[in-house]
Amino acid sequence: MKTKKLPLIPLRGLSILPHMVIHFDVGREKSVAALESAMEKDQLIFLTTQKDTLEENPKIDDIFSYGTITKVKQLLRLPGKTIRVLVEGIDRGIIIENTMVAPYMEAIVEVLEEPENKKNKKREEALRRKAIESFEEYAALAGRISPETIFSIISTQSTSKLADSIVGSMNLKIDQKQMLLEELDAVKRITKLLPIIVEEIQILKLEKDISSKVKGQIDEMQKKYYLKEQLKVIKEELGESGEMNDEAGEYKKAMKGRKFSEEVKTKLHKEIERLKKMSPISAESSVLRTYIEWLLEMPWDTTTEEKLDLNNAREILNRDHYGLTKVKERIIEYIAARKMSNGFNAPIICLVGPPGVGKTSIVKSIAEAVNRNYVRMSLGGVRDEAEIRGHRRTYIGSMPGRIAKAIKQAGSINPLLLFDEVDKMGNDFRGDPASAMLEVLDSEQNYAFRDHYLEVSIDLSQVMFITTANTIDTIPRPLLDRMEIIEVSGYTGEEKLHIAKNHLIPKQYKLHGLKKSQLKLKDEALMEMIQGYTRESGVRSLEREIATLCRKVITYLIDNNKKTITINMKNISEYLGPQKYSYELAFDTDQIGIVRGLAWTYVGGDTLSIEVNVMPGSGNFELTGQLGDVMKESAKAALGFIRSKANVFGIEEDFYKTKDIHIHIPEGAVPKDGPSAGITLATAIISALTAIPVKKDLAMTGEITLRGRVLPIGGLKEKLTAARRAGMKTVIIPKENKKDLIDVPKSVLGDIKIIPVAQLEEVLDIALIRKIKGIYENKSNKKNDGIIIADENIINNKPNIRA
Ligand code: ADP
Repeated sequence: MKTKKLPLIPLRGLSILPHMVIHFDVGREKSVAALESAMEKDQLIFLTTQKDTLEENPKIDDIFSYGTITKVKQLLRLPGKTIRVLVEGIDRGIIIENTMVAPYMEAIVEVLEEPENKKNKKREEALRRKAIESFEEYAALAGRISPETIFSIISTQSTSKLADSIVGSMNLKIDQKQMLLEELDAVKRITKLLPIIVEEIQILKLEKDISSKVKGQIDEMQKKYYLKEQLKVIKEELGESGEMNDEAGEYKKAMKGRKFSEEVKTKLHKEIERLKKMSPISAESSVLRTYIEWLLEMPWDTTTEEKLDLNNAREILNRDHYGLTKVKERIIEYIAARKMSNGFNAPIICLVGPPGVGKTSIVKSIAEAVNRNYVRMSLGGVRDEAEIRGHRRTYIGSMPGRIAKAIKQAGSINPLLLFDEVDKMGNDFRGDPASAMLEVLDSEQNYAFRDHYLEVSIDLSQVMFITTANTIDTIPRPLLDRMEIIEVSGYTGEEKLHIAKNHLIPKQYKLHGLKKSQLKLKDEALMEMIQGYTRESGVRSLEREIATLCRKVITYLIDNNKKTITINMKNISEYLGPQKYSYELAFDTDQIGIVRGLAWTYVGGDTLSIEVNVMPGSGNFELTGQLGDVMKESAKAALGFIRSKANVFGIEEDFYKTKDIHIHIPEGAVPKDGPSAGITLATAIISALTAIPVKKDLAMTGEITLRGRVLPIGGLKEKLTAARRAGMKTVIIPKENKKDLIDVPKSVLGDIKIIPVAQLEEVLDIALIRKIKGIYENKSNKKNDGIIIADENIINNKPNIRA
């Protein structure tokens, strides 16, 4: 075994085989040191390849152990520390021992001898010839190997040298080269090399094929363009250019007979002329084409004739929707006003109400009633002005804004445009969409609305705008000022029943291909669906439940080969599953310290029990049940009032020092905030402190002030509906809410007694099962603001507190 101690250089992305002469640059400090050491001795250096090219400082395990012993033939110092070396591969070698790692790598390398192939010389010769033949084909295809090199390779006598030289001149992958380096037997090496050359030949052929096809396509396009240009010149010579049959001509043809504004006409002409001058295959021309098509497709000159027939409108509105009286009335008034004066500027109507109450769907009917095309555009999540107005054409991929798109979609310049969810519009650093919306909705400005992309004015003055929102709280103020709010409140159970029977059920039956005779849905079952399966102000979930029922019933009819089915209270759960919601009902007996309040939530009204416990203690006041801040403050106001009036209510004056009061509001599902539980809280506390029970079937709602005044609340209709559903017989409401009773359905008012009050004392009078002694004994003491000055009589009249 012959060994040598040699400096070592790891190579990156390069493999060197014996017989190869190659130059490369050395830059790494360790490599330079190794090189310098070799130059001081016999100029021999061991070169091997790094397994990972990216490794900056490879260890012995990071390099292949097979490599090539090379001789440095030339050195050239380049600017910086880099050295360019020319080396020649001498022998294959393998690292036996790594003797040094710094300042450079050094190893004991075994010089690998090639076994001599004595037998089967014919086979060796055959392989040689095949290799030479394939290599020549490869070289001819690759075209970058010089004829001298080719000649010197193919005239090599040694099989081993032939194989190594071919590998050296081909572009092979590092692992392929390494594999061939590690093969010592020349015959085996050339056997492994042959399929690699053949594969490379195939790849080169494919590459050639692809590039010639690409070139062919480009040539074809250039030819067409050239011919077109020639044709243009010839036609111009013949004076026929106006009759061009090209796309510019098509666009001009499309303009004929259309009524554009001067601005649009000029713009179109200009841009079409520009298009003519462009190469039809350029990216710019395709952008321009899209633009011209947009301008042509906008319905500048298309209108639908507005229908202003009151009776027809009434009929359509009533046909599609139950209730929604205020909306319908307002629309009829609008039509009447339009009829009287054509130039009349309609205010923008904003329908505000909880989801599923028919806001969107009635707007569709309005469009039909006035014979305008209908488009809906959701503003939910729009935060960027460019979404409304579009991007300038200089932006890549720019497009018109949503307004322009909506008008195009409508197909007429006077559609009914519904802006859904104006309350969900956002704004951020990219600009405020609300200000663009202001311009859209402002009749002083919107006759010349400018879209950044279209670059021409769009006349929006003939558009009828209607907007919807769930709440007015988050509508940007300037927009709100411009709109006329119509509140659409939730529906009572009876109203929902009606809507379901007349609208939702026929619609769903039709959608599912069901006949009335196939599915008989009893009113009681429908009511059960409304109360037990949905909890909402609108009817969206109800519509979904009806759809579910239709599907289940169809499956049942087919499975059981039945013709008809009746759904009633008893079997409904077989199809819709168990009830999803339940409602708290009235208590069986009058209770001390528990009062029923009324809450308004997003999904309608609900009742809310307020429980108060009083126990001997040291004046702790505790509130539990996850109450909102406003409700907590309201409880404190109630307590403040009670303290100031303790003697009047027959409560020990120092109760706030000697008793602990705990207020709890159960019912996790109902959000608990807002001031409207004020009088309920106060009544519950007084009931607990005086131990006088509260009537079992009574509910109340109203804000309380520190002086015990009862202030008005919102959501009266929903609250009263909820009270009736819970079986309440009496409901106390603030006096100022009396005017809102007009919106409450008769069916609700018929079932409950409603008592408006202005002062907490009146509430107590009605709610507690017996009077607190002494309260109204001396009427003359009642002052204007409802403040009662207690007299000696009352103060001395100490009640018996049971907590
Ligand atoms: P919103 O826009 O208020 O969220 P939708 O217009 O989407 O509600 O209404 C939901 C569904 O309920 C629609 O199918 C609609 O036709 C129906 N609907 C709501 N209110 C009524 C009503 N008063 N009369 C008939 N159908 C109604």
